[in-house]
Amino acid sequence: MTKTGQKASRPPEVAEKGGVSRRQFLAGVGGLGVGALLGGSLVALALPDSVYAVPASQGYLLVDTKKCGGCESCMLTCSLVHTGKENLALSRIQVAKSALAGFPQDSAQYQCRQCPYPECVEACPTGAMHADEATGVRTVDEGKCIGCQRCISACPFTPSRVQWNFEERHAQKCDLCKNTPYWNREGGPGGTQACVAVCPMKAISFTAELPVQSDEGYEENMRNIHWSNLSFPIDDAGKVSAETYMRAKAAKPAGEDASTDSGKMA
Ligand code: SF4
Ligand code: SF4
Repeated sequence: MTKTGQKASRPPEVAEKGGVSRRQFLAGVGGLGVGALLGGSLVALALPDSVYAVPASQGYLLVDTKKCGGCESCMLTCSLVHTGKENLALSRIQVAKSALAGFPQDSAQYQCRQCPYPECVEACPTGAMHADEATGVRTVDEGKCIGCQRCISACPFTPSRVQWNFEERHAQKCDLCKNTPYWNREGGPGGTQACVAVCPMKAISFTAELPVQSDEGYEENMRNIHWSNLSFPIDDAGKVSAETYMRAKAAKPAGEDASTDSGKMA
């Protein structure tokens, strides 16, 4: 078990259409009856597995849990741009806080990882949970969602990165702001993500690079000189004082920054 509560991961041995292997598809149909045979799904049964590879997402969110202040601005904004309502229960990114824990266990962000082998996609019997054709972003087609919630259970992380939209009664998940009807900015991998834009701590960032597939791979040290100037530690162990950092920075040749971030901190 990892710190995000990840269950043992499945080996990526099956190539699937929209994440649905024929084996899984047939199992799903068995549980749901012939009514689940929607759209062109029957055609999938006649094609070789090699046709069904899930394209990679063109983007990923990274977080710095040590920088997160727990203000929940990202959650409220996520809900607002997607649904027009500020409701923490409708946010696709999640923040957990503990008043009893000390730094850095007192606050954590949980974002969808846009997994290369997305178990949420694989589990969906209707193709509602799918990789967007243009961007690869793992996305819910709300019109195809029958509310079985298999995707929510299948996501190997705790909390599940798929949520149940209790108001509209369908699954929802992070789409990197590709579909944000209540926001006038272009989202998706080529655009802006609302949580990244709004976070006052600059504790969320976007990358087009597939992260290393581990908890650490989806976290990034986004603390730089400004953070240090506030006398907060900038290293992951939380031991480097601002004074130490400034000394190290002064000792570096011109143009070489001692910080470990990539200049994302405002
Ligand atoms: S919802 Fe879960 S399984 Fe699906 S892509 Fe996100 S992290 Fe991976
Ligand atoms: S809840 Fe909707 S998206 Fe999730 S598995 Fe069921 S049909 Fe697919």
